[in-house]
Amino acid sequence: MQTDFDIVVIGSGPGGYVAAIRAAQLGFKVAIVERYNILGGTCTVVGCIPAKALLDASEHYHDIQHKVGKMGISVENLNLDFSRFIERKAGVVKSNSDGVSYLMRKNKITTLFGTGSFLNCNQVKITASDGSEKTVTATYFIIATGSKPATIPGVEIDKQRIITSTEALSLKEQPQSIVIIGGGIIGVEMASVYARIGTKVTIIEYADILIPTMDRELGRELQKVLNKLNIESRLSCRVQSTANKGVQAEVTYLDAAGVPQTISADLCLVAVGRKPYTTGLGLENTKIGLDERGRIKTDERLRTAEVNIFAIGDVVAGVMLAHKAEEEATFVVESIKGGNPHLNYHTIPSVVYTWPEVSSVGYTEEQLKEKNIAYRKGKFPFLASGRARAADDLDGFVKVLASDRDGEILGMHIIGARSADLIQQAVIAMEFEIGDTEMGKICYPHPTYSEVLKDAFLESCGCGAINI
Ligand code: FAD
Ligand code: NAD
Repeated sequence: MQTDFDIVVIGSGPGGYVAAIRAAQLGFKVAIVERYNILGGTCTVVGCIPAKALLDASEHYHDIQHKVGKMGISVENLNLDFSRFIERKAGVVKSNSDGVSYLMRKNKITTLFGTGSFLNCNQVKITASDGSEKTVTATYFIIATGSKPATIPGVEIDKQRIITSTEALSLKEQPQSIVIIGGGIIGVEMASVYARIGTKVTIIEYADILIPTMDRELGRELQKVLNKLNIESRLSCRVQSTANKGVQAEVTYLDAAGVPQTISADLCLVAVGRKPYTTGLGLENTKIGLDERGRIKTDERLRTAEVNIFAIGDVVAGVMLAHKAEEEATFVVESIKGGNPHLNYHTIPSVVYTWPEVSSVGYTEEQLKEKNIAYRKGKFPFLASGRARAADDLDGFVKVLASDRDGEILGMHIIGARSADLIQQAVIAMEFEIGDTEMGKICYPHPTYSEVLKDAFLESCGCGAINI
């Protein structure tokens, strides 16, 4: 059958735009469909990029206020222009989205703005924001429609006082106080942004620890770090309901003892996870099914129940991370081309962009215990690093978990300055089966944060750390 395109990608987030680019590079005729009139998806527009723009800016403000004084630097009349703080973030988003548009043009990818909806497994109708419609046919489709903020029973998001991360990234005025429901990744990142610029922040978390999906030692250390920013963490608390009380938001929850409590603040940020987004996609006109959590069902090659339709990123099972979506994007396109591409979910790292950053890859210590895998451990504090002392970044540690049998790296968990970049060394070691002994032997430049890794590897393999 003659089709308009070889591949049509629905959704222009990191899954969609990477799929489109790789497909064009491999010689396919490609179109990308995006519902909003801006390319880049959650990550570029209301996720990774704007969050990091505010995290970095707030960190500078906080450092000037609290850190540089002891280095002999004084700044008078420090103040924060909140509108410019938010405006600059909008500029960063625009330049990243423009970058995606440039890449579409450079790779001769047709961009179609509008909501894509399957009419059948070979045809998609695209309805633009002005109501106009267009139908395209393709041999293959890749669904990359991402996710939206989720909520919990009793909590209705009104986008005024009870908001999601999307609104929290674009506030008109700085709140005096904010209650955050959920001490997961969004919760602790947004808590950091607002606490650093002087907002009173309280996190209410259901689990008994912050960032509960990560190694527990990380959550405990992160809580100490956030305490220093005056962020209050109320753990083992189950939120029951929220209410917009006009000038304040009110949150009712059961505390750790099961006693009902209420707390009020200017805003309540709901950060209890995200849900896959398939609304309006016309899946009912195909054989494509959803799992119990609303995610598109695929096989291990990411193929749906329709042989020519694949799905990737937040809309399918797995961690909701931009680089996971990107890995799946190239995997699917290279599979369609007939290759044998690489995709290893076990070595996908996760980073929380607090300061210091929290980074993780592989098994947590709790998972190794649960699986009865014998392991050895090497731990090293940033406090003992010359570079960390020079920069006054003393919080945190690195923890290496390696097989007791042969030193294979099973997991690495770091909370410490620049750990987002350091974790990549563990990814390489795990991917290419380089053990703790070998990682302890190689040279690390001095003075760098990377030396904490060397000492942790030396501890793990039994040679003993040098610097402690
Ligand atoms: P998305 O980026 O969600 O893109 C999907 C796109 O599809 C959207 O543009 C949507 O409009 C479009 N779409 C949906 N339905 C249709 C349709 N029917 N027709 C046409 N278009 C449609 N991840 C990280 O790895 N690092 C981070 O630092 C990070 N920070 C984050 C911070 C925040 C505040 C949030 C909310 C998320 C963050 N994430 C981060 C997660 C990351 O944004 C997602 O994992 C990633 O964007 C998923 O990519 P995706 O391509 O699957 O979907
Ligand atoms: P999350 O799953 O990380 O955290 C949600 C938290 O809410 C959990 O800790 C959970 O225990 C808590 N919770 C649930 N119900 C509750 C209740 N009734 N009362 C109190 N607490 C409750 O989800 P998120 O922080 O919303 O982030 C969504 C997704 O976005 C994540 O999957 C994450 O991967 C992605 N993200 C990634 C980054 C990053 O990579 N740096 C940044 C932001 C978001």
